[in-house]
Amino acid sequence: MTGRRAHCVQALVLAGVLLSGCRRGAEAPAATAGPPSPARPSILLVTLDTTRADAIGPEARGIETPAFDALSRRGLRFRQAYATVPETLPSHSSMMTGLYPAGHGVHENGRFLSARFPVLAERLQRAGYGTAAFVSSFALARRFGLARGFDVYDDEPPAGRAERTARETTDRAVAHLRARLRRPLLLWVHYYDPHTPYAPPEPFATRYAKTPYLGEVAAMDEQLGILVAAFEQDAPGPTAVVVVGDHGEGLGDHGEARHGDLLYQATMRVPLLLAGPGVAPGVSETPTSTRRVFHTILDFAGLDATDSLRKPSAEVVLGEAMKPFLEYGWQPQVMAVEGRHKAILAGRMEGYDVAADPGETRDLAGSTDLSRAVRDALRNYPVPSAEAARAPDALGDEARRKLASLGYVSAGAAPAVRKDAPRPADMTRLFDLLERASDLFVREEYGRAAPLLEQILAEDPQNLDAALRLATAHSALGHQAQAARTFEKAAAIAPGSPDVRAYLALHYARGKEWPRAAPLLEQVVAESPERLPALEALARIRERQGRPADAAGLYRRIYDLRTPSADELVRLGELAMSAQQTALAIESFEKARAAPGGAFTHDLELGVLYLDARRLAEARDALDRVPASHPAYPMALFKRAQVSVLLHEPDQAERIAAARRGADATTRLLIERERLFQR
Ligand SMILES: [Zn+2]
Repeated sequence: MTGRRAHCVQALVLAGVLLSGCRRGAEAPAATAGPPSPARPSILLVTLDTTRADAIGPEARGIETPAFDALSRRGLRFRQAYATVPETLPSHSSMMTGLYPAGHGVHENGRFLSARFPVLAERLQRAGYGTAAFVSSFALARRFGLARGFDVYDDEPPAGRAERTARETTDRAVAHLRARLRRPLLLWVHYYDPHTPYAPPEPFATRYAKTPYLGEVAAMDEQLGILVAAFEQDAPGPTAVVVVGDHGEGLGDHGEARHGDLLYQATMRVPLLLAGPGVAPGVSETPTSTRRVFHTILDFAGLDATDSLRKPSAEVVLGEAMKPFLEYGWQPQVMAVEGRHKAILAGRMEGYDVAADPGETRDLAGSTDLSRAVRDALRNYPVPSAEAARAPDALGDEARRKLASLGYVSAGAAPAVRKDAPRPADMTRLFDLLERASDLFVREEYGRAAPLLEQILAEDPQNLDAALRLATAHSALGHQAQAARTFEKAAAIAPGSPDVRAYLALHYARGKEWPRAAPLLEQVVAESPERLPALEALARIRERQGRPADAAGLYRRIYDLRTPSADELVRLGELAMSAQQTALAIESFEKARAAPGGAFTHDLELGVLYLDARRLAEARDALDRVPASHPAYPMALFKRAQVSVLLHEPDQAERIAAARRGADATTRLLIERERLFQR
């Protein structure tokens, strides 16, 4: 590794662009679009969630994975393949863009892959490929940005669940293959089974009773075999297969039970193999980033051979685990692997010879073995900015709960880099506690979350997120004094933090001091225009202040960010009516009426609005829908008579008479004064 190359790496990571572009200068132009030649293979990409490299394949112990093994015999298997992030969405974002997270900006689950970055499926779709994806977890749902370029993006778990089994996903993918496809196909199938909870189906539950994690991998491997066989039989043309893990699982290594918090081999080293045209079977020891799945599939499709793993070339492989930094303010963590050497930077540098010491038990950072290139790549890897780190404000409660049900809970606070912040590897005793507290908090079980959060703060007093959540829990439980005290603590941890301001404002908005919330919320909304909870709290305050036009404007912004219910649309219609915003009121009531499920009971309002807008035929229809049982039916009769006159209906005299007969105290006066009726 030369110094020039190392410099190139840092420059490009900083620029947030494709690292691989570095080695060869400008990117080669993509092949021209058009109908692909018949020789182009159909390509199957299978991503195995939460699968350790040592849990699958011919070298795995305590498990048999015949489908993966059969593929390895005729394919190229990488023994040193590394995920870019030990978490599902960012890791897949790298495979779909070819970029490290510093490039594509997705460091955690629950974020969104920006449309600025071209994805694999778009490239193949443009080149004439059919594209289909079948994913098994809400963590990869369409809303997170990976569906671009797929003709089919099947992310529907059975009702009420956030994931589906490999068998369920395979069945759907196989059904797609049976549809007699004509064009070459890119098929992406994602399996989620080895993720917690470990509950394999039979016969694997019995066979792996003592190692249920391996039982899940074995069950998934069986489905992999079924899928590959169906693909090779039914997909058009020759076929290529890529199988890759998105990250591993700690299983207690280095004190980590699951994944996402540390950068050791258990979670970063993953299975990776290729089989297909032009792939020489064998085993590669070259350290490889799974982001190169992107380049390899472009190569299989004949679009661009640069950086393809069909011919592996050495590089400094990078990785990061920013979740503890983003969520708890601990040290940011990055890693680099070159040859047999791996270094981790998290506050201080660690170094390992992963060939001689795969368990990473002997820290060699003090020795001179680590190359300059590795050290430099680590030091120059960009830490996400506070703005990039900001939690996904527009995620919504339902999505948060679903992610929480998968064990992922995104925090609210943007961190600051602290020199004295703890190293995640030194905080493993808190991992389980943090997860349980987060889970309870997101489920709004504040009474149970509060004591756990107290415990976390006692052990990690600078944990801003824990402080804000504890303050919020006290606030929601009505513990005013404790809430105030904890908010003061949070403000002391992060003076001037917009997150402290936002949570404090929501605290005020909850109680008697709600007028104090307004100026704070105005500031929060100006700083982060997509922060849903703040927008919602401010909209409710505007209603209480009797400012319907302002409230309606805020609700419009809110419903651009999330889908409103029918009741919410009716409420917006009413607000717009009292603010005399006829167009918005009509639009809201129309949407409420079209919403599925709800029984719409506001035809009178809608009729009046149409009349006001001189949309007479629509006014007539809406008023005709008002039932006689409606408490304001006399008004409906009166308005209907007005419409009748304006439409020159032949029965207008009868309509006026009916309005007179049905009149109540309010409408009687209106009818007497109505000039339309005085002819
Ligand atoms: Zn995953």
